[in-house]
Amino acid sequence: MRVAVVGAGAMGCLYGGHLAEAGVDVTLVDVWREHVDAINGNGLHLTGVSGDRVVHVSATTDPETVGEVDLVLLFVKSYDTRKAVRGSRPLIGGDTYVLTLQNGLGNLEAIAEAVGTGRVLGGTTSHGSTLVGPGEIRHAGAGPTVIGALDRGSRSMAEKTVDTFNEAGLQTRFSGDVRSDIWGKVLVNLGINALTALTGLRNGQLLDVPELRRLMRLAVMEGMRVAEADGVDLGPIDHIAHVYEVAEATGANRSSMLQDVDRGHRTEIDALNGAVVRLGEKLGVETPVNWALTALVKGLEHRASL
Ligand code: NAD
Repeated sequence: MRVAVVGAGAMGCLYGGHLAEAGVDVTLVDVWREHVDAINGNGLHLTGVSGDRVVHVSATTDPETVGEVDLVLLFVKSYDTRKAVRGSRPLIGGDTYVLTLQNGLGNLEAIAEAVGTGRVLGGTTSHGSTLVGPGEIRHAGAGPTVIGALDRGSRSMAEKTVDTFNEAGLQTRFSGDVRSDIWGKVLVNLGINALTALTGLRNGQLLDVPELRRLMRLAVMEGMRVAEADGVDLGPIDHIAHVYEVAEATGANRSSMLQDVDRGHRTEIDALNGAVVRLGEKLGVETPVNWALTALVKGLEHRASL
């Protein structure tokens, strides 16, 4: 399988690095020239829970030099999805599939608009990774990957991708209902990300404050109502208990949104709480808590831009 990873940041390098180590023909594609030069010049430096090593993998800023591949693995931030898919045109032929494991809502739809529903694979990842600097990432935590297809016709490619990832040491399973999996992860993000970004607290510290526990619950409940109104089967899981469990299990972590705010970077709020608000408006579901969280995080983003 020929693979191009578009958006070779913390997660793109983690997946691309593992695939390259397993002998898969993979190229990292990123707009960040210094990072691409560092990977081509000195290899990709991978540290953390899967071990410290240097992986030799080719990287480029120019997808034309790669040509058509079997699989594009898209790992840009959700606000860059549309632009990255447009830039990936030279990689995408009649038989190419595009897989997103990004966080948030709207990525599947944005990709499907560009390449057609039958060419989109989606899923979730429980790995954690941090970009240390050009050519270097730290694998912060390992966890399962889930992959599924939007369309029945793409199931065999989804299964093939699951096998390829497992052979590369990325523990992966097939999902028959990928929208449900993506929403499950979104619900966790709704309960944790904005609140840690706004308070500066680590994930587990949210649980120490009864008022914040209540906000976590309310944000998740609104998300559940929107998902259900949108026809998503959220399964038998107690999503409120689950968000508390995840906050506890990842207690020492600083969420990606908190890290983005601290660095003065744009956040993925529009694809998380903001997306729930927009979808709620469309479906007639009130989402005052997610609206307020979105507004406050946008205030932090604005402060960073001044
Ligand atoms: P990142 O910022 O580390 O990497 C994104 C990369 O995309 C950057 O290197 C950037 O230069 C590149 N990029 C931007 N626009 C591009 C374009 N048009 N074409 C090609 N490359 C482009 O982000 P990340 O932390 O790897 O996150 C990626 C996605 O994965 C997000 O949706 C995030 O929520 C999700 N995710 C991240 C983690 C994590 O631990 N980092 C865990 C689970 C899910």
